[in-house]
Amino acid sequence: MKARGSALVIMMVLLVCGASACAGPLATITVEAGAHARIDTPVSVPLASVPQAVAGQALSLQEVRGSSRVTVPAQVEPGPTPRLHWILSGTLPAGQKRTYELVAGEARTDRQVKAVKDEKNLVVSVGDAKVMQYHHAMWPAPKGVAKVPDAKLPLYDHSAFIHPLWSPRGTVLTDINPPDHLHHLGIWMPWTLTSYEGKKVDFWNVGDATGTVRFSKYLSATTGAVYGGFQAEQDHVAFKTSKGEQTILKEVWDVRVYNVGGSQKGYWLVDFQSTQRCVADQPLIQEEYRYGGFGFRATRQWKGANCDYLTSEGKTRKDGHGTRARWCDNYGTIDGQTEGVTFYSHPKNFQHPEPMRLWPGANEHIFFNFCPSQAGRWEMKPGEDHVFRYRWFVHDGKPDVAEIERIWNDYANPPQVTVKSARPEGAIVLFDGKDFSQWEGPKGGAVAWKITDDGAMQIVPKSGSITTKRNVEDFILHAEFKTPQMPPEVKGQGRGNSGIYIQQRYELQILDSYGLPPKNNECGSIYTFRAPDQNVCKKPGEWQTYDILFRAARFADEGGKPVKKQNARITVFHNGVLIHDNVEIPNKTGAGRPEGPQPRPILLQDHGNEVAFRNIWLVPLD
Ligand code: MG
Repeated sequence: MKARGSALVIMMVLLVCGASACAGPLATITVEAGAHARIDTPVSVPLASVPQAVAGQALSLQEVRGSSRVTVPAQVEPGPTPRLHWILSGTLPAGQKRTYELVAGEARTDRQVKAVKDEKNLVVSVGDAKVMQYHHAMWPAPKGVAKVPDAKLPLYDHSAFIHPLWSPRGTVLTDINPPDHLHHLGIWMPWTLTSYEGKKVDFWNVGDATGTVRFSKYLSATTGAVYGGFQAEQDHVAFKTSKGEQTILKEVWDVRVYNVGGSQKGYWLVDFQSTQRCVADQPLIQEEYRYGGFGFRATRQWKGANCDYLTSEGKTRKDGHGTRARWCDNYGTIDGQTEGVTFYSHPKNFQHPEPMRLWPGANEHIFFNFCPSQAGRWEMKPGEDHVFRYRWFVHDGKPDVAEIERIWNDYANPPQVTVKSARPEGAIVLFDGKDFSQWEGPKGGAVAWKITDDGAMQIVPKSGSITTKRNVEDFILHAEFKTPQMPPEVKGQGRGNSGIYIQQRYELQILDSYGLPPKNNECGSIYTFRAPDQNVCKKPGEWQTYDILFRAARFADEGGKPVKKQNARITVFHNGVLIHDNVEIPNKTGAGRPEGPQPRPILLQDHGNEVAFRNIWLVPLD
């Protein structure tokens, strides 16, 4: 029996590993709950240090449970920096962590979130239950509903809105074209009191015939095991500009319904993001006003005493209008059945916590706005992106503050994800502790840094920075570094200063920044341009890692001159933690070489401190 068991084990190893050496996982991913308990929390991380992901290969996520592995549903969002999404399923108590391994192979898919389009609409469903319908076709305004002359009705024809939003029990929670406000459309997002070229444009009150919002095109429709949804481009059009009818704002809605909750658990979870860019010559001026922006018009069966609001600050219909909140719940009862939706404003939103428009009348319907314009005049300048993020918690029952706050914590303080990548097969080893064969010193001379007994290279101060012999364009780079313990009288930029200059142009700073707030000249910064999202610097003397995905700036030849068409982009993990997420770098940093179309080497900076490096590898990308 024993011998047979061993043979079986050997056969299984052969089956798993094949004829070549048994490779480990492509990456090990750890999720820490942090200060809050997590229940069915969606998490995601860019796979910037996994070349197989960048190459679009099929990947499978396995949860580590002791010595066994359980494949969990996962979804890779494609793109220049692919992003892995999955659900931290079940409960993960505060302070605990979970470990996963990423391996080659097909992802597990069970129940799917589907996005299905027809000629008029796109419907997102979880399993067989519909969650929402987005209208891309023009929806004709109904006749005879409101006191609007028939000749004016076409002004009210509209696309680019969500209706219905269904509850998990199937109740329609939204309303459109109600008699009191014919222009109200479920969930939609126009601005109200704006001006362009000094003339008033009202994208909200379409009956005024100065502006409207229209669907333009889909950028994606996604069906998946973790989320499904769509990205739709919408045009905010002004009718009477100096150029006639003109698109002032290009907006992209990115709407994702997660594969959590459902009719049995009694909730849906949705992430909504609107990215708006002024594409006209002049800024769009937003005047101070009491409504406009992200809007929700509830079912007309919610009226008066059977419905109300509850904000994160405990305000209701009586006292909520004009106040600010992190979230606002809108709920009502139909035939003894209570349902609602909480809208959360992301902490990074403009004017967060955002002021709100609620209808205060005791006998009114439910209408809700997050309305940054209540806080004063602001501008949308040409070419600048304005991003508004709102999470929706669609729920059965009355608002449960503990549950709503739990989801707030997931949204505002997500669990920390750490990625540790293995050196991929075929990576170019730039340094493995043995020699400087891949490097050269200043002006192409020999490298005067030293190799230590523990297999590291260490800066010999004043001997000069070193560069790779190879030029780089797009790549994945892994490097490990250690800053020296400096005497306490040495301050700031004098403490263990070095840096990785990508293409000799853009410096990713190395410094002893242990325990300091993140700043744009501290460790992990893109020097003087951008602070890391968080400072995860270890103590001097401890080895640290950088994992970098870099996409070089793109240039075109225009009349013999290179003209930049796209900025460089970078994603960086510091000690496995994401600190720059697909960040555009607009120009060279500090002492970097000027930008240009030619590839250049990677430079390790001699800033006069004995910083050490080890285990450096590179994967050039096509
Ligand atoms: Mg430096």
